[in-house]
Amino acid sequence: MTADVLDRKRAQFVALAEAAFHRMFGSDGQNGLVTFAEREERACEVTDELARWLMAEHVGQDPLGEAGVEQPCPICHGPVQEESDRSAPSAVRELMTRRGKIEYRRTAVRCPRCRTIFFPPG
Ligand SMILES: [Zn+2]
Repeated sequence: MTADVLDRKRAQFVALAEAAFHRMFGSDGQNGLVTFAEREERACEVTDELARWLMAEHVGQDPLGEAGVEQPCPICHGPVQEESDRSAPSAVRELMTRRGKIEYRRTAVRCPRCRTIFFPPG
């Protein structure tokens, strides 16, 4: 990940954390939350969302999903170089985490020998 991308991600996270803080405290420091159960519910809701965002963004940056990484073809087992082609088909993967379901995108790769199109693991 380049420093630019990392800076952009950090700014996105800070904006989300800011919004989470606002949903907890509002502009009056209470935001209509009265009982402890309400406070707990809201705190868990907003931090679960932050946790899911962190996981989805982190797994989306997995080196296996980046261009230039070699993968073995599942059919002929030869090495396949992932292309940086952003128009390549991609699939949304779902993963159930302790903080709820996250989704991330995986780009397909095509084996140059047997023409198999497959999605790298992970
Ligand atoms: Zn192959």
